[in-house]
Amino acid sequence: MKTLLPTSTAGSLPKPSWLAQPETLWSPWKLQDEALVQGKQDALRLSLLAQQQAGIEIVSDGEQTRQHFVTTFIEHLNGVDFDQRKTVKIRDRYEASVPVVVGDVSLSKPVFAEDAAFLRQQTQQPIKWALPGPMTMVDTLFDDHYHSREKLAWEFAKILNQEAKALQAAGVDIIQFDEPAFNVFFDEVNDWGIAALEKAIEGLECETAVHICYGYGIKANTDWKKTLGSEWRQYEAIFPKLQQSNIDLISLECHNSRVPIDLLELLRGKKVMVGAIDVATHTIETPEEVAQTLRKALEFVDADKLYPCTNCGMAPLPRDVSNAKLAALSAGAEIVRQELSALKAS
Ligand SMILES: [Zn+2]
Repeated sequence: MKTLLPTSTAGSLPKPSWLAQPETLWSPWKLQDEALVQGKQDALRLSLLAQQQAGIEIVSDGEQTRQHFVTTFIEHLNGVDFDQRKTVKIRDRYEASVPVVVGDVSLSKPVFAEDAAFLRQQTQQPIKWALPGPMTMVDTLFDDHYHSREKLAWEFAKILNQEAKALQAAGVDIIQFDEPAFNVFFDEVNDWGIAALEKAIEGLECETAVHICYGYGIKANTDWKKTLGSEWRQYEAIFPKLQQSNIDLISLECHNSRVPIDLLELLRGKKVMVGAIDVATHTIETPEEVAQTLRKALEFVDADKLYPCTNCGMAPLPRDVSNAKLAALSAGAEIVRQELSALKAS
């Protein structure tokens, strides 16, 4: 990456109202068949344009191609029965009706390669593509076949590796795995979660990222966060092993989060996508607030390894709010870029 402090988003961006109900997670598509294919491509173009107009350097599809960051991928797998539902507790936090693993899981053909190739055609900028991580996938299903979270994660890792290789071939520069489950099941993360992630990136030449976070700004998550106390030290348990892993970038929330920023020292040497935009509020950050978060992070992350980012996805936000937040992210990063170059010149 040539630009210092290249900006990006952690994941989803709002969908246009003609494609799906705005400000809603898991919102059903409003189009069908060929109209849906075209609609998703049009939405991807709009989402890309919004990122470009805000000056975002590493762009994505804004997840316009999927209904949900985990479920849409799982829908394409063999061995998962979507007609059978069981209620489970996701991330030990909220109950959801989920599909059931009924047989060996496998992938017949890549899920997102065509969408990624379409995005690649639209821009020369570096592109990032998000996939669910193995542990988060396991946590979003009822397993009636393997009867082992670790075994199922390992099978998912092999499938994700196939998918990731197809995305790389489509021209994706950074493949990101979303692992919100990583700050809930610490022992499992260290036992097999990071190993499964490394299996998923085996043999890749493009860059790889893992996004860990305290979740979207939905009620179940904000209620849970209130129970975590004034300091969130959850990451302390997993950063040492992540630092040792082959993953290139770690994406996490920093602005308005209670994660002590000095925990980033445990990741020293890794590239860090520093969340400087709170996705749980409609309040627009000022560029100076963004700059302040980045300056704090710079005490623990080398400047050439700092990637300003949003805390999480912005799908549940109104489009004007999301656009204004993207612009603030760019402007804040630019303030710090200027400061760093002035420092270098002096
Ligand atoms: Zn997130």
